Amino acid sequence: MRDIPAMPTILLWLASCLLLTPGLSLAVSLTEAQRVIPSATAVSPVNGVPGLYRVAGSQGPPVLVFQTDDFVRIPAYSGSPVNLLVGITTQGQFVGVDLLSHQEPILVVGITDQHLKAFVDQLAGKQATDRIRVGASDRAGYVGIDGLSGATITAMVITRTVTLAAERVLTAWTEQAAAQQVQQHTAPTNTATVPEAEPVWHWSWQQHRVKVAVLAAALTILLLVLFLQDWLVKHKLFFQRFRFAWMLFTVIYIGWICHAQLSVVNLLGFARNLAGGFSWDSLLLDPVVFLLWGFVALSILLWGRGVYCGWLCPFGAAQELLSKLSRASGFEGWQIPHAVHERLWAIKYLLLIAICGLALDSMANAARLAEVEPFKTVFVMQFDRPPAYVFYALLLLVITVFNSKFYCKYLCPLGAALSFVTRFKVFDWLRRRVECGHPCQTCAHDCQIGAIKPTGEIIDNECHYCLECQVTYWDDHRCPPVVRKRKRRERRFVSADAVIATDAGGYGGKN
Ligand code: SF4
Ligand code: SF4
Repeated sequence: MRDIPAMPTILLWLASCLLLTPGLSLAVSLTEAQRVIPSATAVSPVNGVPGLYRVAGSQGPPVLVFQTDDFVRIPAYSGSPVNLLVGITTQGQFVGVDLLSHQEPILVVGITDQHLKAFVDQLAGKQATDRIRVGASDRAGYVGIDGLSGATITAMVITRTVTLAAERVLTAWTEQAAAQQVQQHTAPTNTATVPEAEPVWHWSWQQHRVKVAVLAAALTILLLVLFLQDWLVKHKLFFQRFRFAWMLFTVIYIGWICHAQLSVVNLLGFARNLAGGFSWDSLLLDPVVFLLWGFVALSILLWGRGVYCGWLCPFGAAQELLSKLSRASGFEGWQIPHAVHERLWAIKYLLLIAICGLALDSMANAARLAEVEPFKTVFVMQFDRPPAYVFYALLLLVITVFNSKFYCKYLCPLGAALSFVTRFKVFDWLRRRVECGHPCQTCAHDCQIGAIKPTGEIIDNECHYCLECQVTYWDDHRCPPVVRKRKRRERRFVSADAVIATDAGGYGGKN
């Protein structure tokens, strides 16, 4: 595993390979135009505005048709823009909108075509001059449309792409019409002016401000826990109860309520973003995910990948809770022999390399292979998916009862990506004793991740930073060297007590 290149190298390599095609003027055929304007009988290019076409055959004000890629390219969740076909009157009323192409993982596998069509159909009949926002029904001055369940960010980007492109098209049309009117000495006519709108991420942060505040508070607590770990792990019962409560928080709040399960697809989107010239806008689209990634980047440098995997990953926490419950009921699970266990780690690295390789050619195919992650099924779609996906996710959750965090140890491509960066971590705060592995195997046996070598060293790339071994380190009833110290201390007390008792007896005898 040591010879696999570091993750930053892979990201740069991906970035150089995933260069986005620069915007070219894309023709709109009559057949395509009829997808959004069924009455269209002909299309003709608008002079001086590449990519804009005027449609013949419709009643009322002139109707224009265009592909959004010709006017605006806002990177979406995947890091690539979504291209839509838009029909709009020169008065600014949307006639029809259709999706042409995208790289969005959630739209490739997850959201059905009917859901997608129902979403974009909401724009037809609305005015581009309105401030159209996903979920803004209760916001004064805005026109709200329903979001796409499980794909809120993509829905926001689609809406912003269409409205911003419409703004640019109407401005170009107005300027073109004015120039013609000057030439022909006719009076100025007919077109709408779209108000300048806020960046899509502003709206997203406003909408999610409560979630962001709660998560920020939780991350601050976690930072305190990590800095005070030596003190906390000495209070075994308190620490174990705190950790159990934290796992519940991670599953319920981060996973089920915020849908903030990080994914290997985020890394591909980041690489595409780098390749496309880097934009903070696309990184800021999902504030909860942004905050989590920011924390993960910091915590990896300080403590390694384990802080995410052991504390913040909802699927990791769900597995840990299940295996804790099964152990509490007396079932210890099955350990795979260390030599086999070490070799099985390779699977997740191979999956990561395959996903990155596919992304060079097609994000859609990469997204299909990334379905090895059960995250979308469990937390984003909350099991509202075809039976095969649900069965796979449930199977992984059942397996964890028999072999704790089986998915994390052997299959998770995100875990593999994070462990590459772990080699840059600065601190090493997990304590070991000279007796660890020579001959003591207590922690190695307890570590549910199998991240402690039989020789006693912790394997940073695999460790989930659960701190169980640190609890044992201080436990004077489990850690053999500390047990010996306690017994020696107790023996000294017993002998001292015996001496005192003898002396007291002597005094008593005198009295
Ligand atoms: S290995 Fe994957 S599933 Fe497991 S905790 Fe880490 S990121 Fe989550
Ligand atoms: S028990 Fe120790 S070595 Fe194992 S995952 Fe937890 S912190 Fe890491």
